[in-house]
Amino acid sequence: MSAAPRSAAPRVTVLAGGVGGSRFVRGLLHQLRTEWPAAAGGPEESMPGSGTAASVTVIANTGDDLWLAGLRVCPDLDSIMYALGGANDEERGWGRRGESERVSAELTAYGVGWPWFTLGDLDLGTHIARSSWLREGLPLSEATARLCARWNPGVALLPATDDEAETLVTVADEAGGTRQLHFEEWWVRHRAALPALAFTQHNVERARPAPGVLEAIAEADVVLFAPSNPVVSVGTILGIPGIADAVRQTAAPVVGISPIIGGAVVRGMADACLSAIGVETSAVAVGAHYGARGLPGAGLPGAGLLDGWLVDSADAAVAASAATGPLAGIRTLARPLWFHTVEETAAIAADALALAARPRP
Ligand code: GDP
Ligand code: CA
Repeated sequence: MSAAPRSAAPRVTVLAGGVGGSRFVRGLLHQLRTEWPAAAGGPEESMPGSGTAASVTVIANTGDDLWLAGLRVCPDLDSIMYALGGANDEERGWGRRGESERVSAELTAYGVGWPWFTLGDLDLGTHIARSSWLREGLPLSEATARLCARWNPGVALLPATDDEAETLVTVADEAGGTRQLHFEEWWVRHRAALPALAFTQHNVERARPAPGVLEAIAEADVVLFAPSNPVVSVGTILGIPGIADAVRQTAAPVVGISPIIGGAVVRGMADACLSAIGVETSAVAVGAHYGARGLPGAGLPGAGLLDGWLVDSADAAVAASAATGPLAGIRTLARPLWFHTVEETAAIAADALALAARPRP
């Protein structure tokens, strides 16, 4: 953090996927609003959807996006918008509160869409509004801003790219060859059970970062990698040409929060993605995959991306022993990383900011 006065909250830019990303960002907002009430509307207003804390920008994964039933569906953008805007179903953990599925049943009767990929009626309103703006020629970033004007997520929410660069999964076919399917088909229909041979971002070479993305990374006081899926959430954001370089070059410290605790994914099936790219499901291996900024040899092309890596207390010993090995050049801190309550998640965000503020070794 560059010497920000106490009255000004740091400008924080977060790379995030959907559910894990939004849970983390909610804690981050809680933390910023508690510590810098003057800058962000006061702690009593730390309810979701309570207005803007302009100091946080979230760059969201768009690799999961797809055209379905004629509509552009953006799962991660919407998960973040609903969760931070106070519209999500807290019990289920995703989607809209008070949702129904009457339209989906009609579409299934017509054989339109994917019967295993439910689009709720309220959620369909979002997809119809977005698709109508896209068909009028607006870029996704502008359509997202219009949707957010209603939900007030309290962050600047940016798609990683306005271009369509969907994640495809290569799997073995019956004939002994391979076939590709959309990430959502692999994830939702097959529950990630078909062994993935590779992930590709269709047309990614033509994709450009959405307006504001590179600036948000360059001008931030702190850049954070949410504890989102390292392959198909953070990895796909970093796959958009220009974004990883912006992370390498920013003057801000870059800190990641581990989505892996004690050698296991906390929730979800990220291990199926990590094994496909040859990365072990461990906090050390994922940190080493991101790599130390300024040092070559990370799992991603070019130099590494991280100054700091926040791991769970369960991983304290392995992280310490990796300090001169796989995690060389990355400062680590071990703290409890389970998101149980918003207060505990806020403490995780505070730890990430504290790690960012530590001088380089
Ligand atoms: P998605 O796009 O909805 O799949 O969600 P993300 O990619 O943003 O986040 C999914 C990741 O969040 C999973 O790989 C989990 O390992 C991680 N995750 C979920 N809950 C927690 C938690 O309580 N603590 C930590 N550290 N990570 C979590
Ligand atoms: Ca996702």
